[in-house]
Amino acid sequence: MLPTSAPVPSAPPGELERLGHVVERVWGYRELRPLQGEAMLASLAGRDALVVMATGGGKSLCYQAPALLRTGLTVVISPLISLMQDQVASLVESGVAAASLSSAMSGAEKFAVHERLSSRELKLLFMAPERLMLAGFADELAAWNAQTLVIDEAHCISHWGHDFRPEYRRLGELRRALPNIPIQAFTATAAPPVREDIARQLGLRDPLVLVGNFDRPNLTYRFTPRRDAVEQVLEVIRRHSGEAGIVYCLRRTDVDSLAQDLASNGVRCLPYHAGLDAGVRERNQTQFLAENVDVIVATVAFGMGIDRPDVRFVVHAALPKGVEQFAQETGRAGRDGLPSECVLFYSGADYHGWKLLQERSAAEARANGVELDPAETERALARLAEMYGWATSAVCRHKFLVEHFGQPWTAPESAANGCGACDVCLGEFAAVADSPRIAAMILSCVVRCQQRFGASHVTDVLCGVADEKVRQLGHDKLSTFGLLRQHDPRQVRHWIEQLVGLELLVTAPGRYPTLSLTQAGVDVMRGQAPITLFEIPQLPRARRTRRTPAPSDLQYDETLFDKLRQLRRKLASERGLPPYMIFGDRTLQELAAVQPTSLDELREIRGVGAKKLEDLGELFLAAIREHVQR
Ligand code: ADP
Ligand code: ZN
Repeated sequence: MLPTSAPVPSAPPGELERLGHVVERVWGYRELRPLQGEAMLASLAGRDALVVMATGGGKSLCYQAPALLRTGLTVVISPLISLMQDQVASLVESGVAAASLSSAMSGAEKFAVHERLSSRELKLLFMAPERLMLAGFADELAAWNAQTLVIDEAHCISHWGHDFRPEYRRLGELRRALPNIPIQAFTATAAPPVREDIARQLGLRDPLVLVGNFDRPNLTYRFTPRRDAVEQVLEVIRRHSGEAGIVYCLRRTDVDSLAQDLASNGVRCLPYHAGLDAGVRERNQTQFLAENVDVIVATVAFGMGIDRPDVRFVVHAALPKGVEQFAQETGRAGRDGLPSECVLFYSGADYHGWKLLQERSAAEARANGVELDPAETERALARLAEMYGWATSAVCRHKFLVEHFGQPWTAPESAANGCGACDVCLGEFAAVADSPRIAAMILSCVVRCQQRFGASHVTDVLCGVADEKVRQLGHDKLSTFGLLRQHDPRQVRHWIEQLVGLELLVTAPGRYPTLSLTQAGVDVMRGQAPITLFEIPQLPRARRTRRTPAPSDLQYDETLFDKLRQLRRKLASERGLPPYMIFGDRTLQELAAVQPTSLDELREIRGVGAKKLEDLGELFLAAIREHVQR
């Protein structure tokens, strides 16, 4: 087991101050985030490191800032060309000598980068892993005076991770080819086996292992059964009018139809999935980054290359495949640290849909003579069951997630109740007073139906629906017939799902998801174990605020904020950059709050570095002045 270390590595005096200065000058940030300082010092000390930080935790800065202080080149391996290009564009905007090498570049472009490398003018070079394996590359790195190797998205090296990439596997050879160059690996994947695999595969030597806090306090989680996907998703979008969001669906056809329905309801949205033409996909993604559309409706194929930091909501229109995937996908919300919302609309049908998909692909593989590892199939189903159980339960979402990743959870002091940022702690769930009695009725109805029927049939019987099937089976004569007739059938159905989530009931694999009792279910039926059921949660319908509120310390002028956003969009489109690379939302909010009138005042705003002050300062000051004089 890899120990998690968190001591500040011994560093020459003044090193942290030097880092602080460069971060402030180039990026305009006044403080380092947790663990950034430790990671930077390790990097400068030439120590191997493995840094695990939640999405949005600020991993990039950990290797970018030391790169500027070091003599020589820092080489960053990144799996996606688009991610790489974004990082380089952003760095160049801030005046950093950075470039990338990728197969997407023309011969002339590559040549130009090689020239700059040979003249040792570059501080940071980003590249895809394939290129590192080319013959003679180790010599080239030496000739360019490469001093540190950074592996971004390092979980791609591990079979255990959710995003294994074969070309990452060969990175271990680099350590052997370049034994003297320190390696620093970064990932947001928290699972300990992945961590250990990364260290082993890369051949890290006595690495400093830094594991950040996995809680994302700025995200509010809500889980609700799906009744009418279009209507429910629209409700979320209306709470965030004019803000950016991602809606995830299970299948491509769901993406297409939901995107159409949303568009016909006036939402500026575009679809994204692997079935679309590469050109269309790229165009839709660019439209989203350029703020020309607010919402992307997508399969999980969308997201990894997306660094837009102001995504204010992520909706899952169907159950994700597991808790890790949920964390990863919702992690794309609120990277800038501002309040954002993650809503999951689930249904028992999703659980079954995934299960069937899984069984089908195993059967297909078998027909082709390939036997999928049954243990892996089991694990996948277990992950799905865990996600479903979590979705239907009513424990604090933050607490569950943090504990899932093996960290202790403590409620923030500022919150009145629990985490203050999930449907459970916000009191959007109501416990049912006579839970034990209702649970016993449902469980015994399943027994009366001889454990041979699914949730919808059991619901019909409990609600007293004497349709043909029920009558033919004689189930209208059962003692449990109509026992819950005074309740909404959707509510009864949801209680059944809660019982499945609590593993009091299990659904059989296969085509017909019949329900049966577990031993724990028998205990509850007999009144020998406690149980709490919940009402279907009601999402807050009213639009409480027009947009995402700023953190409580910041009151800003919304009209000015809108004007600054427009200016940002205009400047971005002139420069062919996504708007967030000009300034982040938080910076614009601070500008709209402080309303600086001089370059000196502007310099004090978070996110305003020296180069941007020079390039953009007067333009933003002019906009602020014009607004103030009105
Ligand atoms: P990660 O790669 O860990 O998901 P990023 O490196 O993309 O996260 O950083 C997330 C956001 O936080 C970016 O917008 C980044 O500019 C910002 N950020 C990083 N470090 C700091 C800091 N010390 N102070 C303020 N903002 C920061
Ligand atoms: Zn909570």
